[in-house]
Amino acid sequence: MHHKVTIEPFRIKVVEQIRLTTEEERNDFLKAAYYNPFLLNSDQVIIDLLTDSGTSAMSAEQWAGIMRGDESYAGARSWRRMEAEIQDLTGCPYILPTHQGRAAEHLLYNHLGGPGKVFISNTHFDTTRANIEFSKATAIDCPIEESRHPGLLHPFKGNLDTQKLVERIEHYGPENIGAVILTVTNNSGGGQPVSMQNARDLAAICRKYGILFLLDACRIAENAYFIHRREEGYAHKSYRAIAQEMFALADGAIMSAKKDGLVNMGGFLALRDLDLALKCRTVLIITEGYATYGGLSGRDMEAIAIGLREIFEPDYLHYRIKSTAYLGDKLHDMGVPIIRPVGGHAIYVDAKAFYPHIPPEQFPGQALVCELYLKSGIRSCEIGSVMFGKYDEDGKLIPAPMELVRLAIPRRVYTQSHMDYVAETFAELLRERRQASGYRITEEPPFLRHFTARFERLPAREEATRPA
Ligand SMILES: *Cc1c(COP(=O)(O)O)cnc(C)c1O
Repeated sequence: MHHKVTIEPFRIKVVEQIRLTTEEERNDFLKAAYYNPFLLNSDQVIIDLLTDSGTSAMSAEQWAGIMRGDESYAGARSWRRMEAEIQDLTGCPYILPTHQGRAAEHLLYNHLGGPGKVFISNTHFDTTRANIEFSKATAIDCPIEESRHPGLLHPFKGNLDTQKLVERIEHYGPENIGAVILTVTNNSGGGQPVSMQNARDLAAICRKYGILFLLDACRIAENAYFIHRREEGYAHKSYRAIAQEMFALADGAIMSAKKDGLVNMGGFLALRDLDLALKCRTVLIITEGYATYGGLSGRDMEAIAIGLREIFEPDYLHYRIKSTAYLGDKLHDMGVPIIRPVGGHAIYVDAKAFYPHIPPEQFPGQALVCELYLKSGIRSCEIGSVMFGKYDEDGKLIPAPMELVRLAIPRRVYTQSHMDYVAETFAELLRERRQASGYRITEEPPFLRHFTARFERLPAREEATRPA
């Protein structure tokens, strides 16, 4: 059978000019940004794969919704529409709108956290971990063993290790567990999906011990696609029904609408427990806004309500997952070490394997992020020891378990030729991989350092050993 190319299932109605910079210009830009692409201006970037968060292209329907937005302070039509959509999707009666995911995390984890509390997740996303640690609680990652091996194939590499979970619960005592948080898909763990069976097992364990079970549901639609394709018994269920089934297992959910909400700003907290919802709502009103808008405009809420429908459209989801795999398969075929199988929203390059001559203390991921930008103006994100490294008592780096570079793909934004350009760049970087050098941090803040840290490039090995 002849398989035709999977085309983008949309036409382009509005275009945004990309400024095509030269390598010489980019050298200056990156130097001025202290070798941290987060500090670049966006017009210095040609293809921006820094994140898939808030970078989606909205549909004509969503833009029409923007015009219909009801900006009333209380009880706006747009709020009721968003609330009804999320209630229907999550099955949770209490919905708290927030300006983005981390605001919902702050409301919830500040309340559930505090000294002595422990949170367990397949992998805590960076803002999740930061909110938990900021409350002085502890965040523990418990992914299945398979997830720690980048090349090892497993259909649900995002699963949480249930045996380890039970051990940790017994060790810390169930009364000290703030919540079990299942991140779907597992963003920091490679964008890998979580199976329904895993969610079911976790729900049962949490019920047995009386522990709150939460979903970090940022990419619940992409996860549903993988369940539909890979898990027995789901081939005939709709993507939305699969997501609803997973939500039904949890006591609540946090979602950044900037991912599978297909909008540029927004998020929510969904809860089943009235008492918990009221406690969070009090802080919501103090810090975000009144209970029927959180930090959002009426038009934002209208766009979220529409986006949460569009994300489950079969043609969209098929194109979405296929186009991510298109880039991933190309890179894998040319010998770029990536996490496999390819996840939903991003390709994760194993920078430790790509630059084996750069030790973790010199941040191989940061080196790859910088080379990628210099060569072609592609912006990517380090997810390794810059983002997750810690220091021991002597100030020595405790490296992250993996040194990854994430190529996150914005939804409905780039075409296949943009992805071909990314692949061509990697072919060049592969040829020149021996010349890349490591980096050193010169300045960093105490939390979420990857956003603002400054770096200095270390001399390449040949230069370092060359006689003066
Ligand atoms: C993006 C994200 C968050 C935080 O959401 P923001 O809208 O960026 O604040 C939390 N968890 C996961 C898994 C995410 O991907």
